[in-house]
Amino acid sequence: MGPYPHVDRLWSLACLGPRDSVSTYKRYHIETKPAPDLYPHPSRFRVRVKKHRLIGLLLKELVQYRGNMPVVLSRPCVYGVFSGPLGGLAPREHSCVGCLRCTTQYPDIVQIHPNPERAGLPGSDLGPDQVDTILYEARTGRVPVRGAGYRGMFGGPGWDGMWTDMSEIVRPTRDGIHGREFISTVTEIGEKPPYLAFDEEGRVSGSEPRVFAIQVPFLFDVPPPAVRSDALLHVTAEAARRIDSLAVVPFPLAAGLPESPEVVPLVRSEEDAALERMCWIPRMLLLEGWNRERYERIRGRFPESVVAVRVPAGTDVPEMVRAGARVLHLVADETARAGGRFFGDVILEIHRKLVLDGVREEVTLIGSGGIVLAEHVPKAIICGLDAVALEMAPMVALQARFRGPGRDPGAAAIRLPGLDHTWAVQRLVNLSASWRDQLLEILGAMGLREVRRLRGEVGRCMFQKELEREAFAGIEGYEG
Ligand code: SF4
Repeated sequence: MGPYPHVDRLWSLACLGPRDSVSTYKRYHIETKPAPDLYPHPSRFRVRVKKHRLIGLLLKELVQYRGNMPVVLSRPCVYGVFSGPLGGLAPREHSCVGCLRCTTQYPDIVQIHPNPERAGLPGSDLGPDQVDTILYEARTGRVPVRGAGYRGMFGGPGWDGMWTDMSEIVRPTRDGIHGREFISTVTEIGEKPPYLAFDEEGRVSGSEPRVFAIQVPFLFDVPPPAVRSDALLHVTAEAARRIDSLAVVPFPLAAGLPESPEVVPLVRSEEDAALERMCWIPRMLLLEGWNRERYERIRGRFPESVVAVRVPAGTDVPEMVRAGARVLHLVADETARAGGRFFGDVILEIHRKLVLDGVREEVTLIGSGGIVLAEHVPKAIICGLDAVALEMAPMVALQARFRGPGRDPGAAAIRLPGLDHTWAVQRLVNLSASWRDQLLEILGAMGLREVRRLRGEVGRCMFQKELEREAFAGIEGYEG
């Protein structure tokens, strides 16, 4: 025992955790199960066959090949679309990849068209192919793999303008998915003092950390108003419990739930008085809007809870931090823009200012808005977020139908199918497992062994704008 027994005890607790957790250590794992789509997403292409011409061709070939049916019914489509039943009379459109092999050989008989029914997410950057990706992730819980290589664009606005650096040199050292070396995705949420102060007897005399950990750096945000319902909120809360994360739930519903460590009540100012009725202590409370006096009051009322503040991403965050806020949820719009700027740039600026002010380690930044694909999570963390709140991706996973920007409460622009609780929870759990595995892939490729080290690590990323400026600045035609 050292001269400060309280310090020794704190240290041993920090190292070992509760005794029963030492003996019951379990490697974190998200259990996935198939959860099939309720209805298919429209296929990429429409295969239009002129049947009378195809029948004419079949009759001609019947004579030409003397009734050899396998030859007569075969068509040049290795994907089995325009070659299936009856030699292409009933094409299997859902498997068409648009290679145009068929229409090159039979231009008078078959034509391939983009399917106008395919929908992305209106008012966002999420296109139909990305919707397909999310549906696959929610259906299977697996990482989507395209064996034929990437056929999309190599740059673009927003998150597409950031390229993560997967250095081959470090890659063999980490392998999170396959389990050779554990990579931690644990994320700490809360506030930490700049240092611990102890009295002469070794007791902590100053402020203590108010921190708890979740197993993944993402949580479920409160769903868009048009689809918010008790049933859906129970689904997000249960999915959060299963993956050991958090779900933001409006206060009136949260207050009626039994004690739920995964539930974060979202409290509007007019609900402050009703907070007294809360009969359990949440791990975290999220206050809508910033008001210093209100913040201090609720922190005092809930000394065991982390009290976070939800504000638009364009808010002067360093000023709020100077005023005492420590856990902030920054909200951008659905296209990942805040105050006319890209959300990633805004986060990066806030992160750097907090670093310069010497308070970044004391603060937790959560962000939401336009973070809708698995790769957006590490990119947002590289920009400086600690965790990401998911709003639209879970809705896509649950096969919501979108007719307009989802946050517009008046438009009621989103419709969810009838939710079977077990199916819906499994879809969100599968989505989380897939996104975590993709995060592990990126961390492994970067040689990082925990996601906390990724925060603000811009050296692990290349920015298209900067690379283009380096390459083309001063050259006529560069619009930089
Ligand atoms: S475009 Fe390619 S995949 Fe589609 S039907 Fe034609 S040959 Fe088959």
